[in-house]
Parts: sequence; structure tokens; C-alpha cells
Amino acid sequence: MKWLSLLLALALTACVATPNPYPDLGGDFVNYDAARAKSIKVSAPIFRANAAFCSKRTLIDFANEPPFEICAQKIRLMPGAHVNAHTDGQYIILTEGAVMTLSEDELAFLVSHELGHDIAGHDMAAGSKPKLELEADDLAIEIMNRAGFNPRVVPAFMERLDFAYSPGDEGHPPGAARQFVVKEALKRLGL
Ligand SMILES: [Zn+2]
Repeated sequence: MKWLSLLLALALTACVATPNPYPDLGGDFVNYDAARAKSIKVSAPIFRANAAFCSKRTLIDFANEPPFEICAQKIRLMPGAHVNAHTDGQYIILTEGAVMTLSEDELAFLVSHELGHDIAGHDMAAGSKPKLELEADDLAIEIMNRAGFNPRVVPAFMERLDFAYSPGDEGHPPGAARQFVVKEALKRLGL
């Protein structure tokens, strides 16, 4: 999707048109525009607040403020009512179901978890492992907190889903282990 263009357009400022080399995955969306708008609303502050930590950054140049960096990862939407998120290192791929059924704080956790893989230097092209998932969960609490989202919702969110948001992903550890890690991260941050 036209991530940069949309981000700029959302801020209602003059922007440089960016060609779109990253189309969303094809298929039937229920309400693509709504999913796109919400995914940008949640991910834009996360990408901005965490730019200093990301492996790759890109510069945003608004007319009315000094240029600033954001993480270079891109959000890609895919159709489907199920709640699912994953990353291939370049894209963070979110299902329409995840974007539209989760609260903004819960969605922020999903985006932050995927960004956590990048910040931790995980090679996601090689597939996931339980240890990597727990590291990403741990980092995600800090990542979303930096962007002003509320990480205190995460333990209940995990309990609700039993962390089944990645069906078929053998690399994900049991929900109880993930809950333990995020609760420890919350304590560490004094939250
Ligand atoms: Zn993961």
C-alpha cells in the first residue's frame, strides 16, 4: 500500500507523491479503506517513536516540520477474518480481521511484536523459534509504550486469544510462557 503517501496525506500536509511498489495482498477485503486507515493510525506512531532502534530507517519530510525518521518496515494488509500477524523482515503483514477486531492497544502490541523481531536482529526469513517469539514479546512492551499505547492490556489480550493469532506457526510458544514474559516486561517498566 502507499504507506508513505498515506502517512503524509493523513497529516494533511503537502507531500511528495511516492510510487507504490508494495501493493497489498490481493483478495476480498470487507472494508479495505477502514482497515488501511486504522493500521496507519496505530503503526505510524510506533514507527516514529522507535526509529532510533530499527535496523532500517526512512526519512519523512513534511512541509511544516523538520524532517524526521521512521522505521522503514512497511505494513501490508491481507484479507481474512482471522486474527493474524507476521513479518518477513521487510513487511509487517496484518489480517483485516486483526486490524478491525482488536483495540488500538492490542493492535499496537501485534505491530510492536513484529517490529521487535527487527529490533532484536532476528532473521525471520529463517522461520521462527519459541525463544525469538519470547524476545519479541518482551521488546514489544517497550516498543508500544514508547509510542504512547497502553501495554497493560497485553496479558488479558493474550489470555483471551490464548495467543492463537498465528495459527499454523509452529514457532510460537505456549500462551502461558508469553504471558510470563510480558508481565515481567511490564514490571521492569514500572507499569
Ligand atoms: Zn513473532
